[in-house]
Amino acid sequence: MFETTIAGSLPKPEWLAEPEKLWPQWKQAGASLQQAKADATLLWIKAQEDAGLDIIGDGEQARQHFVHGFLEQVEGIDFENKVKMGIRNNRYDAMVPQVVAKLRLKGRVHAMEAQLLRAHTKKKTKFTLPGPMTIVDTVADRFYGEGKEGRINMAMAFAELLNQEALALQADGIDIIQFDEPAFNVYMEDAADWGVKALERAVQGLTCTTAVHICYGYGIQANVDWKNTLGHEWRQYEKVFPALAKSSINQVSLECFHSHVPMDLIALLKGKDVMVGVIDVASDVIETPEEVADTIGKALQFVSKEHLFPCTNCGLAPMSRDVAWKKLQALAKGAELARQRIKG
Ligand SMILES: [Zn+2]
Repeated sequence: MFETTIAGSLPKPEWLAEPEKLWPQWKQAGASLQQAKADATLLWIKAQEDAGLDIIGDGEQARQHFVHGFLEQVEGIDFENKVKMGIRNNRYDAMVPQVVAKLRLKGRVHAMEAQLLRAHTKKKTKFTLPGPMTIVDTVADRFYGEGKEGRINMAMAFAELLNQEALALQADGIDIIQFDEPAFNVYMEDAADWGVKALERAVQGLTCTTAVHICYGYGIQANVDWKNTLGHEWRQYEKVFPALAKSSINQVSLECFHSHVPMDLIALLKGKDVMVGVIDVASDVIETPEEVADTIGKALQFVSKEHLFPCTNCGLAPMSRDVAWKKLQALAKGAELARQRIKG
């Protein structure tokens, strides 16, 4: 009961990449970079286990950013000539690569980290990939064409590639494959209309557990400012959850603690496992076990204990290592307290 897990990313040690940045520069190159990525992955596997988490991830140590890490292994993308693009409906500008030809995988994307993860923990493993709709919102297109149809075609092309990698991750022994779709909270109509369909294409043929993470973004200033414009009640999930409830996706990860998401929206996910965000990634204040257990208690009004998985609101990548480490411990301790409260 209350198996704990993180949304995905963890801070990179400063010998691997610039600390506390969302798009950090690597500090190594060539074979040393490969070794440093592997070492950092091992370090975080151990830290998650030591903290007492139940489902272990690779902490996304081998990718510069959760979307571009995947894109680097895709043919048909020009990384040399990045362009500035407003992403997440112009919430912030990013330098993004451009799609210039038909998309194809060059080979495996995450074999190294996935195999390391599987070999170095006996616990359940989770691996994250960017969702098709979020990828489409994080690249510039010069090939699939303008408008909605172009975007859908490009999303389906990415979904096919994601599916190839997901099937390979499953063969590596990964237990849960999660797709990150922060764009679902920005383009709600499109998400319900074709975003979930693209996700279904990405999970085609998978027999392992499948998940989607939908959040209000990393704890960076642009996101904090955006959240301040969303008003007293954040009802974005309301438009997407019914489509997800009807889909084949098994688990949904959402933001709760310190957000203005009405807790009763969880009830729209009937039948799904719900990864409830009990750890705030936009604050360095460490949650107490009581706060974590209280959030779990509130969520229990709308999801059964068998379906509730305590999780972080989003990735911890831009935080300091020390804060992230303490938040992992708070997550595990809070879930333990919630178990004790249930047993009475
Ligand atoms: Zn997130």
